[in-house]
Parts: sequence; structure tokens; C-alpha cells
Amino acid sequence: MRHIAIIGSGPAGYYTAEAAQKTFGDNVRVDVFDMLPVPYGLIRTGVAPDHQSIKGVSRRYEKTALTENVRFVGNVAVGRDVSVAQLQELYDAVVLATGAPKDRALGLPGEDLDNVIGSAAFVGWYNGHPEFADLNPDLSGDTAVVIGMGNVALDVARMLAKTPAELEGSDIVGHAWDALKASNIERIVILGRRGPHQIMMTPKELGELGQLDRAAPHVDADDLPEEGDDALLEPGLRKSVTLLREYAATPEHIRAEKPVAIEFAFFSQPNALHGDGKVSSIEIEETELQKGRAVGTGKTTTLPANMVVSCIGYRTAPIPGIPFDERAGRFANDEGRILRGLYCVGWARRGPSGTIGTNKPDGVAIVGHIAEDIESGTLGRSGKKGRAGFDALAAESGLDVVTFQDWKKIEEAEEAAAREGAPREKFVDIEAMIRAVN
Ligand SMILES: Cc1cc2nc3c(=O)[nH]c(=O)nc-3n(C[C@H](O)[C@H](O)[C@H](O)COP(=O)(O)OP(=O)(O)OC[C@H]3O[C@@H](n4cnc5c(N)ncnc54)[C@H](O)[C@@H]3O)c2cc1C
Repeated sequence: MRHIAIIGSGPAGYYTAEAAQKTFGDNVRVDVFDMLPVPYGLIRTGVAPDHQSIKGVSRRYEKTALTENVRFVGNVAVGRDVSVAQLQELYDAVVLATGAPKDRALGLPGEDLDNVIGSAAFVGWYNGHPEFADLNPDLSGDTAVVIGMGNVALDVARMLAKTPAELEGSDIVGHAWDALKASNIERIVILGRRGPHQIMMTPKELGELGQLDRAAPHVDADDLPEEGDDALLEPGLRKSVTLLREYAATPEHIRAEKPVAIEFAFFSQPNALHGDGKVSSIEIEETELQKGRAVGTGKTTTLPANMVVSCIGYRTAPIPGIPFDERAGRFANDEGRILRGLYCVGWARRGPSGTIGTNKPDGVAIVGHIAEDIESGTLGRSGKKGRAGFDALAAESGLDVVTFQDWKKIEEAEEAAAREGAPREKFVDIEAMIRAVN
């Protein structure tokens, strides 16, 4: 029997568990740990609340979670409640699938001003991540600036732009739903250093901006490259750029029918944030592309900004004693191998890129490495204590472990508390989750 501990119950964690089952069959026991009492990582706390069909992928993970040889060990933070070294004593292989939950810093003067928020915090707030439930962003001003030209920036802009009716079938948490209902934001500027050909926005998400009840996308036709150049783009990006062209061609009187403007500010590099305690403006420098890189031209303007959300990427949280690649912001690894018997997978391995599905081949590859390392003798002979050993340690340390059956009770209570038309009302603090279990 081989014992595997997977740290993190997001897509990478569960795809790894699934691959371990397929590879080792009944000769493996897998424990999937999570610091939260609830599973699925960013499926619950990242994917937008109005994209319920995407969240449906969790049903696949549930199937894995409910099999005999996989178990969920929730409410246990590795590095705080138990160390990686302790787990390595008990399990043949330890796989870090801890994602990349920390916002990358802007590195600009003024970024500590109030209402300058990273997307992990803002998205965590409207999705009910316990760490960000108290964020309380100030939505009383009229202009929000969203920095970044990827899908997370689109999610943030869309959530700020939607009407309460448009969010009815979503699982946006109550505190965010109430705050957005009272929001005064009527101008959302999406800011990017490069141009339309360099966006990282997929057509489905970009297309949604053109279908909103009270908001319309504004694109300046002068920012668009020659139309013939679109032929060189890969098909997905070409579709996205075609959408930008449609938005640019929409006559002003049609756009003006919608009171909220979502403006695309291309070739715009933020240089500093200003304000007295709270952000009130952002200084922007115009850029031009030189060999694909954005270079400042020295021409600056100042844009009012009552709120700034930076969507410029994420970093893995380091764990004491585990080799970390500071530059890349993830664990130092060679195709997922960190040290003997210690692996990483998903965003913790490759950084914050790709879709949910990208994590599947990652999980398969890591299990392949574990199988090779067993075969070659690198992991030594079997005989570790696995689950039984962890249970003894948890009892000794007084850990309040949440099982998958416990999670199902939390899920049931969240579904019972849902407002009309919504799938669930999430608990936003850990104590409330534990109370629902008991
Ligand atoms: C805002 C946002 C929206 C997105 N929307 C989409 C989308 O619509 N479609 C799509 O395909 N992709 C989307 N993605 C990308 C997708 O969410 C990621 O590809 C995927 O979640 C990465 O999986 P992961 O398992 O590596 O990390 P995560 O999903 O982040 O899972 C990591 C897990 O590890 C746990 N953890 C962390 N540290 C510890 C610790 N020390 N101890 C125990 N547990 C720990 C966390 O609680 C978490 O549950 C989105 C990403 C973001 C940020």
C-alpha cells in the first residue's frame, strides 16, 4: 500500500487524486488536505458567481472524493497545523497543490492607499472566501479602474457592472450582493500597458460585456491595429479582437443608452496612485510597443479613480523550509519534483496560468513521476503509516478535522439558506462552517 498526501483540494489536487486512483487502483490511499473546511479551491472562491455551469466541474471531483481510497481532510492548514516534514514521515509522497492565492504587488507609489485592492481579495470578497469576507470595498465613488487585460479583469468589471437582476441566479454572497446593489460606479476603466493584439481575454468572457443590461463596452477605434494583421493571430485571440472591433464600431448614441461605461484603455501604464488616505486618482503614462514590449512615451495623464482593482497575477504562498522560486512566485521545482518524495502541481507548480482543464494533465504527469520514483526505489519501500498515522497526530494535536461527509452538511445548510433563485448562500467564516457541521 502506498500513501499520498495532496495539499490543496482545488482542481490540481483532485485531478491528481483521480490520476492516482487510476494508476495505483486499490494499492493507494490518498488524503486531500485543505486549510478551509470546504473543498474545490478557486472553483468555489475564484470562478465568477454568475458562471455556475463552470463550477459544475466540482461534481467530477466529488466522484473522486467519495471513493474508498480518497478522503478529504479539511480545516487543516499545512505549514500551520501540521508541517510538510511531519506529513513526509507519514506518507510516501506529499504533493503541494496549494495554488497561487496571493496577489502580485503593483510595485507603484500609492498602492497602499485605501480602496486599492488586489483581485484575489476582491474576487474572494464577492465569492465568500473567509480571508476576505471583511474587505468592505468602498463602492460609493463613480469610477473604478481595473488594471490588467485578462479574464480576471473581465470578471471584476462584469461583477461591478451587472444589475442585481442579472446576478439573481448567481451564488454571489449576501454582503457583496447588498454592497453592489448600493454601488454608485458608472465608469469602469480596464487598463492595459499593451494593445488589443496582446490581450489575454477569451471570446466568451469578452463577448459577455456586450450583452449587459445597463453597461456597454467602449473601445477607441484608433487603438486597433490594421484589420489585416488579425489574420496572424491564433483563432481564439482573433475572435476576441473581432469583438473589440465590433465594440469600437458601435455608434455613440447606442452606447449612451446604457448608463455604465466599460472603457478599454490600451497602451496605458499606471505610474502612481494618488489620494488622501483613500485612492482618488491614477497617473497613467501612454506607451508604445517596441518588439512586443510596452515602453513609456513620457506622455502622462491623470484619471479619476475612486477604486482600483489590480488583476495582474498571483503568487503561491511560501511554506517555511520548502524551496521557493521568488522570481516566478511558485515552488522551485523540476517538472513538479521539489525534493525526494515532495512534489507540486497546478498553479503551485507552474504559476497562475491556464484553465481549470490545464490542471488535469498536470495531475496525470505528477502521478507518473510518483510511479517512476516508486519503481526506481527513490521513495523507498512501502510501510509508512498514512491515514492512521495522521489521525493519531490530529488527535494528539487537537485538530478539528472536517471530513467530506461534514462538508456535505455544510453544503446542505448553504443550499437551504439560498435566496430565491440562487443555488446557495455560502458561509463566509470558518466558525459558521464548523457550526453547520455540528
Ligand atoms: C478569479 C479567477 C477566475 C477564474 N475563472 C476561471 C474560469 O472561469 N474557467 C477556468 O477554466 N479557469 C478559471 N480560473 C483558473 C482556475 O481557477 C485555476 O486554473 C485552478 O483553480 C488552479 O487550480 P489549483 O488546484 O492549482 O489551485 P486552487 O484552485 O487555488 O486550489 C488550491 C487549494 O489549496 C488550498 N491551500 C492553499 N494553501 C494551503 C495550505 N497551506 N494548507 C492546506 N490547504 C491549502 C486552498 O485553500 C485551495 O483550496 C480562474 C482563476 C481565478 C483566479
